[in-house]
Amino acid sequence: MALSQLIGRLIGVREHVVDPGGGGAPRVPRPVRAVVVGGGIAGMSAAVVLAERGVDVTVLESAPTLGGRLGAWPEELPDGPQRNEHGFHAFFRQYYNWRSILRRVDPGLGFLKPIPGYPILSARWPTEEFGRLPPAPPANLLALLLRSPSLRLTDLRGMDRDAALPLLSYDPERTYAEFDERTADELLTSLRLPDRARAMLFEVFSHSFFNHEAEMSAAEMIAQFHFYLLGNPEGLAFDCPDEDYATAIWQPLTRHLERHGGQVRTGTAAARLDRTPGGWRVRTADGAAHDAGHVVLAVDPPALAALVAASPGLVAAAPRLVARMPAFGTPGPPYAVARYWMDGDVRPDRAVFSGVSRQATLDSVTLYHRLEAEPRRWAARTGGSVVELHAYACEPDVPAEELAERMRVELTELWPEAAGLRVRQLRARVEAQAPAFTPGSHAERPGVRTDADRLYLAGDGIRTEFPSALMERSAATGIMAANHILRAEGAAAEPVRSIRPRGLLAPR
Ligand SMILES: Cc1cc2nc3c(=O)[nH]c(=O)nc-3n(C[C@H](O)[C@H](O)[C@H](O)COP(=O)(O)OP(=O)(O)OC[C@H]3O[C@@H](n4cnc5c(N)ncnc54)[C@H](O)[C@@H]3O)c2cc1C
Repeated sequence: MALSQLIGRLIGVREHVVDPGGGGAPRVPRPVRAVVVGGGIAGMSAAVVLAERGVDVTVLESAPTLGGRLGAWPEELPDGPQRNEHGFHAFFRQYYNWRSILRRVDPGLGFLKPIPGYPILSARWPTEEFGRLPPAPPANLLALLLRSPSLRLTDLRGMDRDAALPLLSYDPERTYAEFDERTADELLTSLRLPDRARAMLFEVFSHSFFNHEAEMSAAEMIAQFHFYLLGNPEGLAFDCPDEDYATAIWQPLTRHLERHGGQVRTGTAAARLDRTPGGWRVRTADGAAHDAGHVVLAVDPPALAALVAASPGLVAAAPRLVARMPAFGTPGPPYAVARYWMDGDVRPDRAVFSGVSRQATLDSVTLYHRLEAEPRRWAARTGGSVVELHAYACEPDVPAEELAERMRVELTELWPEAAGLRVRQLRARVEAQAPAFTPGSHAERPGVRTDADRLYLAGDGIRTEFPSALMERSAATGIMAANHILRAEGAAAEPVRSIRPRGLLAPR
């Protein structure tokens, strides 16, 4: 354990138990059937926990492959098959719940390899390094303030320190009461930071949440600073699978689920939900009906809104859920992912993953041929490289190929050698499925429990009362949905954990 983590522990910066789990029989005492709609992280986390306790669970996934926004699928390239993915993901070390699900398939998490460094690139300023800070606060914050070339002591004097206090004082109620109506942009402006510090330390961070600062709640931004930096004992360093997500995660997790009697039906979209005397009936687009005592809806926000709208029975069964849907189902801005198979490589000292600040489109660069086994083999065979570019919140109505080309050109401004690489193949997508965290949205954000008995929600847009985000929130809400079912049926629940629940300076 690092010294900063020891100091952090003394002031409560450590893993906290949100739900100790346990409490019932190791397996449900009588037959219970559950349907989970959506086979991403949230749905599969719920299904795994349910199946392990003897619940007869079926996962319905509309896509041909599992994983949702962490999905991977085969791609036929002219020089052979390759797997493509929905996009690079950083597996942070405070993702306790997601990691506990992943331990089902690899108890030592050996498939997750540490990524050295987390540089932030800019065309205007020197690179900032996030990955080598001490892991825990307050040492990480002090090191950032002392070491960062983007922030000098004179800048700190000019900064509005009172405005910065809320960042250190995250509280799951007060923060939302005071800051949810304001925008992240207003909060950052109120800090009176020099432009460089704002760009290199703050904006790059907020972009990773798939929302524009001017349209994102300041409270959500404070919550995410707490979750990733100011309340997190594990640090900003992260790990990544060394194989594609299908090989490393979804295939073994499916086998684990099936060994416990669970089933996965891919290519099967839920079309409508109806109440039955025994629970619920989920009708699928192919005309089949799945009856279950409990249902977990673990789909992305627009899909949830569409499914609720197509289920007229919910108006009586779950009026609050129905009322919340139009706002909740409006996703954040589109994001773009472009994977390039290129001739030649970038400089050997370029990092596997880099964040990018203040380019018009480009937000991150990943060198897949230095990360995963299959692209590594492809690059060794061809002398080429496999590069993925992301834009986390981009202009609407721009075709994917155009966004990909804008990102490629912007990359050449940061890494001039990239201009000399010929593109052999490109797979580009633009999607809008990420939850929006608009100002004022917290009060009406749905939680895991709905107002209908035996109907639960899970996903990265679903509210939690403890710090969580992105993949970790999906896994945590999936487990919580399973726990509600297990407790209702008399079986032991699964533990749920998180980081320090409140900021270092949050008043008690
Ligand atoms: C480019 C990109 C990069 C990212 N990087 C990171 C990162 O570095 N770190 C991090 O923590 N997070 C990251 N994320 C976020 C992360 O991917 C999501 O938070 C997480 O995967 C969401 O999982 P989910 O299960 O909640 O939703 P989803 O993955 O959206 O799963 C929902 C599933 O429901 C299915 N579905 C929809 N409608 C129906 C229906 N009617 N019937 C049946 N199935 C249906 C969908 O096909 C999908 O499989 C990134 C996301 C993207 C897009």
